[in-house]
Amino acid sequence: MDSAPSPRSNSESGLQICVRTISKGSRFLGNATLLRCPVCGKHPLFVEINRVKTLYDWSTPLDGCPQCGFPYDREAGYFLFAVWSFSYIASVMIGFAVYLSLSVFTSWAFTGKLSFTIGVMFFSGALLLRHAKAYFIALDHFLDPHIQEKKTGSL
Ligand SMILES: [Zn+2]
Repeated sequence: MDSAPSPRSNSESGLQICVRTISKGSRFLGNATLLRCPVCGKHPLFVEINRVKTLYDWSTPLDGCPQCGFPYDREAGYFLFAVWSFSYIASVMIGFAVYLSLSVFTSWAFTGKLSFTIGVMFFSGALLLRHAKAYFIALDHFLDPHIQEKKTGSL
């Protein structure tokens, strides 16, 4: 008894699709960790650290990649979810850990612990802002690619 041909008989197998997807996701994640374009990984997402003069320079991505044309910032409010979901939650978790550590290892007064913790939370939030946006750009491109990558390029 012959079975009906699979709809994917002439295309990639499920394993090949899975390997390609994992490889692509890993590449996007690696590029985001290095704060580079998620598509080509050749150009930075933000102004270089030695050229940062304001918080705006620190937190605002460049317009797009000159190599592949990938736009980093698509519309107003694009990064709102990234800032709240990643940067804010990470800052709260760091603040919680700092406060617990201060409570266990020091005899500081409540106001001292709270003041120090809030300072650490603001500082860590500002530090994590670039990576929050970079990971959001990479995740958005992974789930909903706005430009097609070249088929002949590396994975
Ligand atoms: Zn690029």
